[in-house]
Amino acid sequence: MYDVIIIGGGPAGLTAGLYTCRARLKTLLIEKGITGGQVTTTEWVENYPGFEDGISGAELAQKMEKQATKFGLEIIQGSVMKISSEDKVKKVILDGDSQYEAKAIIIATGSNPKLVNIEGENEFRGRGVSYCATCDGAFFKGDRLAVIGGGDSAVEEGIFLTKFAETVYIVHRRDEFRAAKVAQERALNNPKIKVVWDSVPEKIAGDPSGVTALHIKNVKTGEQSALEVKGVFIYIGYNPNTEFLKGLVTLDKSNYIVANEDMSTSVPGIFVAGDVRAKPLKQIATAVGDGAIVAMSTEKYIEENK
Ligand code: NAP
Repeated sequence: MYDVIIIGGGPAGLTAGLYTCRARLKTLLIEKGITGGQVTTTEWVENYPGFEDGISGAELAQKMEKQATKFGLEIIQGSVMKISSEDKVKKVILDGDSQYEAKAIIIATGSNPKLVNIEGENEFRGRGVSYCATCDGAFFKGDRLAVIGGGDSAVEEGIFLTKFAETVYIVHRRDEFRAAKVAQERALNNPKIKVVWDSVPEKIAGDPSGVTALHIKNVKTGEQSALEVKGVFIYIGYNPNTEFLKGLVTLDKSNYIVANEDMSTSVPGIFVAGDVRAKPLKQIATAVGDGAIVAMSTEKYIEENK
């Protein structure tokens, strides 16, 4: 029996674990993929305080993991299928039927990239269609690439891809980006980046060797055209990982977990932190903030429900 089980090992989960372990709560963190979450797929992080020259996402994640395990956080790999809440005992059931019990649960499962749902997306996934520039960018030395989206991810990762590519088209459905101004300026001043405004992707075409073109349509003029590219990187936002929680805690209309200021959910003893929580700003810094708050609230809950 653990005091706390944390589900998800990104910045929110690792920070929560650091704090609960320092509060001497016996804590298990369950992560289904690589510890660090989405940060590990971010090439370079420039807006996390304390690293004046920036830091690679992978290194930042490693540092967070090392710091938390140093204070006793146990980490296992596993995919959580279900949580049940019976009185004061919470059960976490993993794929393969192993079970763990705790007095409180912290959900920090983050989110997954959204699909653009066009012809060719599935067919060419891993053969030119990617959701991770850090992982796949280096395969495209000297090529032309397309990035879909206009948020921080699309613009930042588009800039990163110019390290390898000859040209990066950023295809955005409106005529202005929603990314932070500093990233926008950098992209617009980068000679390798060509922004294709007011355009939506319609089809990813290819042959047995992989992607050959992205077909797009201008939403203002209706004009259709094709960009000859070898890779298409999709950055149109994320969906929260809350499938396994449906019917248990209250979710908002986009399936993010609704929480109070102390990170408590609609179920006593189940708390939330990070990008999976319904909130206006999803950053590493806010995930880490959630992680600290949720640990304090969990400690208080356990103390009051002895
Ligand atoms: P996002 O901010 O939700 O942006 C998604 C982009 O994709 C938007 O430009 C949106 O267009 C476009 N889009 C959405 N659905 C589309 C569709 N079906 N077809 C074509 N385009 C579509 O997602 P994100 O950039 O991945 O960022 C997610 C969160 O992480 C944000 O809160 C972001 O600030 C944060 N983040 C921060 C950093 C950083 O601080 N350095 C880095 C990465 C991410 P519209 O603009 O027209 O809606």
